[in-house]
Amino acid sequence: MFVDKATIEIKAGKGGNGAVAFHREKYVASGGPDGGDGGDGGDVVLIPDANMSTLMDFRYKRKYAAGNGADGAGKRCSGKRGEDLVIRVPLGTVVRDKATGAVMADMSAVSKFVAAKGGSGGWGNSHFATPTRQAPRFAKAGLPGQEREIILELKLLADVGLVGFPNVGKSTLLSVVSRARPRIANYHFTTLFPNLGVVYAGENRSFVMADIPGIIEGASEGAGLGHDFLRHIDRCRLMVHVVDVSGSEGRDPVEDFETINRELLEYSPALASRPMLVAANKIDMARPEQIERLEKHVRAAGMDFFPISAAAQTGTQELVRAVSYKLSALPPIVTFEPEYVEPEEPETLPDPEINRENGVWYVDGGFVERLVQNVNFGDYESRMYFDRTLRERGVFARLEELGVQEGDTVSVCGIEFEYKK
Ligand code: GDP
Ligand code: MG
Repeated sequence: MFVDKATIEIKAGKGGNGAVAFHREKYVASGGPDGGDGGDGGDVVLIPDANMSTLMDFRYKRKYAAGNGADGAGKRCSGKRGEDLVIRVPLGTVVRDKATGAVMADMSAVSKFVAAKGGSGGWGNSHFATPTRQAPRFAKAGLPGQEREIILELKLLADVGLVGFPNVGKSTLLSVVSRARPRIANYHFTTLFPNLGVVYAGENRSFVMADIPGIIEGASEGAGLGHDFLRHIDRCRLMVHVVDVSGSEGRDPVEDFETINRELLEYSPALASRPMLVAANKIDMARPEQIERLEKHVRAAGMDFFPISAAAQTGTQELVRAVSYKLSALPPIVTFEPEYVEPEEPETLPDPEINRENGVWYVDGGFVERLVQNVNFGDYESRMYFDRTLRERGVFARLEELGVQEGDTVSVCGIEFEYKK
């Protein structure tokens, strides 16, 4: 089965906690603080793999997590860094952030992409020794790693994309000009997944051609299979539009040509404006006036026209030569620029919001969220640091102003306290 789109959840490792420890030596009366830092959490890293051709693995496994950093220890021992989690993806995969839809990376353009960064390890108490605080019992907790949902989309790396209605002979054409062996049959949607073939047009003149399932009317609105597969020609440098000029299925070739062009335009104006050649296929079954009529129409649209019979291999080499010639003047395969910007962490985080509901004071957001992650509530000095920061940043003053009473419950980012003046 061909899977070319998947959504996965990734989670980088949490940073380890800093250690509260004291230096002890025989002849040192009271040793200084020597608690080491927590190790950083591991990253979730994506690596392109040219040997993978589908995103099938991601249908069965959707959650991925990197290792947590280890806690720091005494003697300034830093905790071990969490292990990175490496995920291999097919070479042409485009990575998007699910929440915003923004492109994060094109895995055909980079050799490695950190999709979620591990949290920093917390500082051990050795960092907090000051001339006046020789024995701080305070260390910071590690920060959580980034966590996000990403969309993986496979966009094949082909120079040429074959487009056209089902059954017009796209797969047949690919099979006669390359070594690819797509399934060919006289019914619609025989091509259930894209086929790639390398076409040799002479020394140093090979190119990759992709045969995607037929685009049908309404494909750009999501009707039928075609739409899903259009993304595979997003990167193509050139399109070859295959038309059944014999009208063997009872449709009008000129209308076919127009319908497909409309579909492409609906799907993506950028794609529709890419260079196109037209291959009028099945000339073995066509009447001369049918060929003439389509040719006139195509040339009036400013495109080159090639009458062929894929099955009989008539005109196919001329087409290959023209494609190769045209490609030599075109820019390289399209890559997608990252457009995602990591939400910035402001230098000084804003003050929290304070709300009262059912007698409880809720203090949420702003710098407090980060503060809570940094505090080890089991440790006295750590709690004092929490208390002092809230006081210094004016949170208590605001609560007083709003009328907080002794004994009221104050919930700080989900942690409840009893208010004492
Ligand atoms: P696709 O759906 O566009 O990939 O079309 P296929 O390559 O699967 O071909 C559909 C049918 O058209 C098959 O039965 C082919 O044998 C037939 N066909 C392809 N090319 C020609 C041709 O040049 N002449 C004739 N008469 N039949 C062809
Ligand atoms: Mg086909």
